[in-house]
Amino acid sequence: MVDVVENLVEARARIDAACARVGRDPGEVELLPVSKTHPDEAVRAAAGAGYRRFGENRPQELARRTAALGDLSLSWVAIGRIQSNKAKLIAEYAAELQSLDSVALAEALERRLAALGRRLTVLVQVNTSGEEAKAGFQPEEMMDAVAALSRFPHLDVRGLMTMAAHTSDATAIRHSFATLRSLRDQLQAVHGPRISALSMGMSGDFELAVEEGSTCVRLGSVIFGARPNPA
Ligand SMILES: *Cc1c(COP(=O)(O)O)cnc(C)c1O
Repeated sequence: MVDVVENLVEARARIDAACARVGRDPGEVELLPVSKTHPDEAVRAAAGAGYRRFGENRPQELARRTAALGDLSLSWVAIGRIQSNKAKLIAEYAAELQSLDSVALAEALERRLAALGRRLTVLVQVNTSGEEAKAGFQPEEMMDAVAALSRFPHLDVRGLMTMAAHTSDATAIRHSFATLRSLRDQLQAVHGPRISALSMGMSGDFELAVEEGSTCVRLGSVIFGARPNPA
């Protein structure tokens, strides 16, 4: 059994140390535990340590967790690729969607959110690694995509998200993160300081991400242990 609480403390200390190395305020960096595929008891343990927001990649799981853990008043952050036909589940159960990767999905979400009278915080996913299998807008499409999203009053665009290249080459990983930060700076120049979030960094690369300006690291295996099956 992994000790979820101990892992949270250790990961938080590594985030804080990375902040110290580059002179950042650790209060700017959220540790988002990614609970996908792990049992509800593991989420309860993290909630007991004070964590309230959890990352999940399957819309159906957001609904199931909301019911199973309804006594804890947690918020669910969707981080996986979402088919437009699952927009209703996201609109209903997610507090935030970090993986917005098409205007068609935004349109489907807007319709569902309007019907429910809810708003949703979204981050726009950008493919900074050039890997074809990765979701997200191309860096050069990002400005137009964000401009298009202003048509949707129930979506609150707060920043960008990326997944770095799947490689052990630290230079390539840093390049992904630096690209996202520079895109965020370009967005802020046009749309103002509210678009500030940079969700970047996972178990294998979160310290580099923090050094490059991440405001949210999404940590799965380093907190909850290896996933039982790929997800
Ligand atoms: C699963 C997942 C994570 C967490 O991955 P780990 O490497 O286990 O930390 C982060 N972000 C996204 C988008 C994911 O799908």
